[in-house]
Amino acid sequence: MAKFKIDLVKNDCIGCGACTAVSPEFWEMTDDGKTTIKGGEKVNSNEEMEIGEKDLASNKEAAESCPVNVIHITNLENNEKVI
Ligand code: SF4
Repeated sequence: MAKFKIDLVKNDCIGCGACTAVSPEFWEMTDDGKTTIKGGEKVNSNEEMEIGEKDLASNKEAAESCPVNVIHITNLENNEKVI
């Protein structure tokens, strides 16, 4: 069940690859030199995906690894920002 939402501000991704290194099951580099959320949905120029509790740790690690803080996670139950 989806409890969290991951958001990627794609235009601001500098393509360092850190998120894909720590969380390859959810993140991968694409031909444009930026990352993408595997199975994510494009929303304007950004991407987002809903995830369950079991997938939070891996994506939180990806967000924490990002040097430009373009990965955000929101708790959908209380609308609070996780990171
Ligand atoms: S860690 Fe951040 S800047 Fe690096 S590829 Fe991932 S989203 Fe882009």
